[in-house]
Amino acid sequence: MASFDPERLLAALPALPLRPPGPKAPRSFLPWRWPMILPYAGFAPVERVRHWQIARWLIAAGCITVPRHCAICGSTDKVGFHSENYYSVVQSPALCSLCHQRLHRRFSRPAAWADLMREHVCTGGEWFAMLPATDYDLAGYLRRTCGEHLRDMRADPALLSCPGIADLLPRNLHRADGNVRADQTQPDLFSNQ
Ligand SMILES: [Zn+2]
Repeated sequence: MASFDPERLLAALPALPLRPPGPKAPRSFLPWRWPMILPYAGFAPVERVRHWQIARWLIAAGCITVPRHCAICGSTDKVGFHSENYYSVVQSPALCSLCHQRLHRRFSRPAAWADLMREHVCTGGEWFAMLPATDYDLAGYLRRTCGEHLRDMRADPALLSCPGIADLLPRNLHRADGNVRADQTQPDLFSNQ
């Protein structure tokens, strides 16, 4: 297997088109009502929660739409956003719940992930074909190469380049990591279904 190339993965992640917020843009971010999730790819639990809050707000405001089809298998079953780069909400591919589960469990269950890849990788240029086989600190890589300001997720230039978002984006991002529980299960909250 080729060694992991973070720049190649980042370049391959699809970018969601952004629309200006509509009249139903919420005045606050949804609160996180579940136990804290585990870190992933070096992103802290609180960063993953903040990413979820921003994504939910963008969906509710009409700025982004959850794609209908899973980016890996094409299924329309419980499709929601997946993140590899939690510092960029617009770089969020859509996955069905089964592919999403297999992706997050690929370190502990590599055979199921390998089966999925055998079935759906065509060229090797797909973003999901470029994922590291072991947990890689992509968050640390991004901060080293781009700067610590990435932690301010409300200030993502891609978001702020869309008219209206900077004026309406709420301020109540989740504050603390809290207690991390012992599994990777995350409520399926990105889905519109
Ligand atoms: Zn799928």
